Amino acid sequence: MKFETRAIHDGQQPDPQTGAVIVPVYQTSTYQQDGLGVHRGYEYSRTGNPTRTALETAIASLEEGKFGLAYASGLAASAAVLTLFQSGDHIVVGDDLYGGSYRLFEKVFRKFGIDATYAQIDDPASFKKQIRNNTKLVWVETPTNPLLKLVDLKALSKITKDAGVLLAVDNTFASPYLQKPLLSGADIVVHSTTKYIAGHSDIIGGALVVNDEKLYQELKFYQNATGATPGPWDSWLVIRGLRTLSLRMREHSANALFLAHFLEGHPQVKKVIYPGLSSHPQHELAKKQMSGFGGIVSIELHGGIAAVEAFTKELKIFVLGESLGGVESLVTYPAKMSHGSISREERYRRGITDEFLRISVGIEHKDDLKQDLENALAAIGA
Ligand SMILES: *Cc1c(COP(=O)(O)O)cnc(C)c1O
Repeated sequence: MKFETRAIHDGQQPDPQTGAVIVPVYQTSTYQQDGLGVHRGYEYSRTGNPTRTALETAIASLEEGKFGLAYASGLAASAAVLTLFQSGDHIVVGDDLYGGSYRLFEKVFRKFGIDATYAQIDDPASFKKQIRNNTKLVWVETPTNPLLKLVDLKALSKITKDAGVLLAVDNTFASPYLQKPLLSGADIVVHSTTKYIAGHSDIIGGALVVNDEKLYQELKFYQNATGATPGPWDSWLVIRGLRTLSLRMREHSANALFLAHFLEGHPQVKKVIYPGLSSHPQHELAKKQMSGFGGIVSIELHGGIAAVEAFTKELKIFVLGESLGGVESLVTYPAKMSHGSISREERYRRGITDEFLRISVGIEHKDDLKQDLENALAAIGA
């Protein structure tokens, strides 16, 4: 079956007991057992809950993977991957990524003896150079947050397979509608379902999808043992969201391309980064690897922080705030928000300047969005 159909039906069969078409919110912590050690598949909701099972099945299906695991947040899902390793292990990480993931590797797991080093994200060969005897994992985002760089997943997975190293891909920005990393050879797909999958800016959630049963069993053990699972109500909201993922991603992508073209021609805009623009250095790879270019556009303005302040103050539809992937348009200032946990020096080294803004293009009407940006750009220096 096709993506759109699977999103609405997989893991979501009508309730056998009542016929309810929608998966019920099983708001329960525990389950009656039929006898000593005899249960119906559920014992305690940290270990398993039927609403969460529906979500885990649906997300696995969207990624065309075998096994899904849901978590309380994207970072809980990321941390769950790292629980597979131990002191003395090494991981290679793409050098442009979500600030919170960087913080997780540097400030949390480094303390437990897991060493992370960074490879140039848009160059698979630079990952190969960093793989050592104790390397267990390569971790990438593509497109990255917030510079929207890509890595060739087929080329990278060949390198990790040859080296016997796991490849984890944070697929939050593309969503499974636009890109399915497992099909390109990744071992683990990571999601912040908070973003496009849930899509309505009303929950925090995360997920992993894998194909290998042994890897799944290990992750499942740690999921239960460390306990960062989502509740049934949050699981239900993610299911509610993912049913319309295809419609939303098509609209996000179309609006983003339209606005990227508009911004690229505007004199107040120094730089526009969007994988759908032919000016993007990896536009050809984006066309090959993704089935659309997504809803995130990053820009740099002329005029320093003063320009950023004037611009963001004037926006009426775009909300100034953290996060992305919701139906409403949002503008983030990475220097003080998503990447505030990175030193200024490191930020500048990566190209996230004080004039850099990340735009999450929503699904409002594109003409209204363009007008809002036009007005705000006109306010700079006025
Ligand atoms: C938001 C985000 C995360 C973290 O997810 P939370 O749900 O906020 O914990 C991880 N990776 C990427 C790419 C993100 O955008």
